[in-house]
Amino acid sequence: MPDYDHKFIGQMKERLDLDLLGVAPIDNSSPIELKDCAQALMPTATSALVLGKEIYREIVSLLRPSKEVGEADPGELLKPHYNYLSGRLNKATYDLSDLFHKAGYRSLPLPSAGCPTDQRTLVAVFPYKHAAVTSGLGTIGRNGLLITEKFGPRVRLAAILTDAPMESTPVPKENFCDDCQACIDTCPAQALQPPEDDAFYAINKFACRTYRQTGLTCSMCIKACPKG
Ligand code: SF4
Ligand code: SF4
Repeated sequence: MPDYDHKFIGQMKERLDLDLLGVAPIDNSSPIELKDCAQALMPTATSALVLGKEIYREIVSLLRPSKEVGEADPGELLKPHYNYLSGRLNKATYDLSDLFHKAGYRSLPLPSAGCPTDQRTLVAVFPYKHAAVTSGLGTIGRNGLLITEKFGPRVRLAAILTDAPMESTPVPKENFCDDCQACIDTCPAQALQPPEDDAFYAINKFACRTYRQTGLTCSMCIKACPKG
């Protein structure tokens, strides 16, 4: 039996005041992207823990696709809310990592915001969403976001890599995205498109970034989703 089992995960979720906590194995059963990224950051990693906090629906309800020049945008409340959630998640990643370090294991905390990202490709050094799916926290929606059973896409994530012996959390069989296309239809930048072949989603990340760089909070692909 691993030292850190489902009971430990349940206790930590409660003690660290997390809404989501899952464990993905890092081995030959893992998606190749997840395994490669994890082992590039920490070659001895055998598990990725994914931590999540709910984004308040009251704040998401204030989001709007555009605003008039000079108009105050209540949707900008999303930024301080993200800062708050990231702070809580980051503290939890360090609290858990300290626990593993004291037990003699390695542990690398990966932050909720500010993960190193190649700005030419907009690819981060760690695929949080894929780790979250592999740890059973949800599935990927047509909006390219993690869709969870309880909160839909309204979640912030952080992660930890460790070589502590962990029991992986089960992966649900159902797909939490209903393929309703509401996110695609609502995207003001037309950055989301119906995916082709077996892809889960199709997003032009640069179109999304360009739209948001004009000072708009957007995130209408979160607000439009009926899940959670
Ligand atoms: S955040 Fe990006 S992908 Fe989502 S609706 Fe806005 S422009 Fe589209
Ligand atoms: S809005 Fe509809 S299609 Fe888009 S992620 Fe949510 S459930 Fe899936």
